[in-house]
Amino acid sequence: MYRNFSIVPKIMFGRGAFNQIADILNERRIGEGAYMVFVIDDVFTDAPLEARLPLENGDMLLRVNVEDEPKTKYIDELVEKIRAFNPKKPVGVIGIGGGSAMDIAKAVSLMLNNPGSSADYQGWDLIKNPAVYHMAIPTLAGTGAEISRTAILTGPEKKLGINSDYTLFDQIVLDPELLVGVPKDQWFYTGMDCYIHDVESLQGTFINEFSRAYGEKSLELCREVFLGEHEDKDDKLMMASYFGGMSIAYSQVGACHALSYGLSYVLGIHHGIGCCITFDYLEDIYPEGVAEFRRMMEKHDITLPRNLTKNMSEGDLEKMVTTALGLVPLWENCLGPDWRNIMTRERTLELYKRM
Ligand code: NAD
Ligand code: ZN
Repeated sequence: MYRNFSIVPKIMFGRGAFNQIADILNERRIGEGAYMVFVIDDVFTDAPLEARLPLENGDMLLRVNVEDEPKTKYIDELVEKIRAFNPKKPVGVIGIGGGSAMDIAKAVSLMLNNPGSSADYQGWDLIKNPAVYHMAIPTLAGTGAEISRTAILTGPEKKLGINSDYTLFDQIVLDPELLVGVPKDQWFYTGMDCYIHDVESLQGTFINEFSRAYGEKSLELCREVFLGEHEDKDDKLMMASYFGGMSIAYSQVGACHALSYGLSYVLGIHHGIGCCITFDYLEDIYPEGVAEFRRMMEKHDITLPRNLTKNMSEGDLEKMVTTALGLVPLWENCLGPDWRNIMTRERTLELYKRM
């Protein structure tokens, strides 16, 4: 069966595109009391970017904290905050930030139109009602969250996305100028998320020409960004992220992402750095990708944390293994239908113990 999937319908790309968001939003400001909610990463509190937001009377500025990756409980609290701010629903939710702030904006816009807790919708196609109009303005590139149909959340029982066609943004504004000021390590980790999406997609068993077309271009752009010298590297990375996301939309990620989910669920390690940590131990599976990744690390003088699992209890280690091996489609893509005989619990545990 082929998947029939939606994509983001409206995209603006270019330096300074941010200046045009007022025009885009004005088309949505219809009816009395229409207001917008700007969901912005609190790293921008009182920063010039925040001051440039086209806030109008009645709009809500909702600063969000992403020290921890988004949790279902936090989403539910934010939705309550919006309801308390104005019992009427907003006509738009605009997410400004990296993957975390974008995922928060997606989840909030969905939950404004769907009853219960966001934890009830972690899974595939559980959302019943379309979301409030929502837009993304990335300030960090690599996750592909701007174009994916998922909002990844950590819930009481699992780390799993709200996957649905309704999750997709209605509009994205890709302005490479907004990447200025990202700390170098974070720039690298999130950029490598994209690089790893490409490697895992291209080397996976689910690969097809659709995914290959996007994945190869994204990989080429990542090489230019992380191994070359280009004045317009931010433009390139923004498009790499978009294409990397498109590549996995019609294929899947693999071992690195599966293992990083275990690190994230049990140790709270963030996605980008978590993927870098695990990728460095996967040379058996991705020999060329890992070798190139190490050249990129060297060029940018990146050192990864080690001995993360050293003092962990057997119980916690087992929980990580269970989390990782629970991501069946990722392993199927990576190792084929016989994956359970290749990536056994013992081998997974061994890998984690080395990290
Ligand atoms: P992030 O959004 O968690 O941000 C990382 C850090 O960078 C934060 O401290 C943030 O405040 C800061 N930051 C962001 N933009 C900045 C800027 N312009 N200047 C200075 N600092 C800035 O990082 P991320 O790697 O983009 O996103 C990771 C999150 O995305 C995770 O929660 C992960 O689960 C999620 N994710 C989602 C998808 C998806 O398809 N929905 C895919 C991959 C990852
Ligand atoms: Zn990823």
